Amino acid sequence: MVRRLLSRVPLNYKNVLRPIGRVDIDIELCKGCHFCIEFCPNDVLVRSGKVNRQGYEYPIVDPNRADACVACGMCERVCPDYCIKVSDHIYVPVVEGVK
Ligand code: SF4
Ligand code: SF4
Repeated sequence: MVRRLLSRVPLNYKNVLRPIGRVDIDIELCKGCHFCIEFCPNDVLVRSGKVNRQGYEYPIVDPNRADACVACGMCERVCPDYCIKVSDHIYVPVVEGVK
C-alpha cells in the first residue's frame, strides 16, 4: 500500500484534455432569473442588456469568455425554464493557470 502511494506521479497537464463547451440559449423561454449567470463557475455567462418578447433580460455567452466554458452543465441544470443546452464541441490541452 505504502509503495503504491509513493509511486504516484504529478499530473502531466500536457497530456490532459478539457472540453470547451458550446452553450445554446433559447432566449424566448427565458424568465430573466439569472441563476445561470450566478452559478457558472467560470463567469462565462453575462446579462445581455436586451429583453425577449416577454420583457425578460436574457443572458448571453460573454464573447471574451466563451473558451472558458468547461461544459460542466451547471447553467443547464439550474435553469428553471429549460432554456439552456450545453454540449462539448472541442477538447483542448489543459494549460496551468488558465481559468
Ligand atoms: S437560468 Fe434560465 S431562465 Fe434564468 S436567466 Fe438563465 S436562461 Fe434565463
Ligand atoms: S457549462 Fe458550466 S462553464 Fe459552461 S457556461 Fe454553463 S455553467 Fe458555465
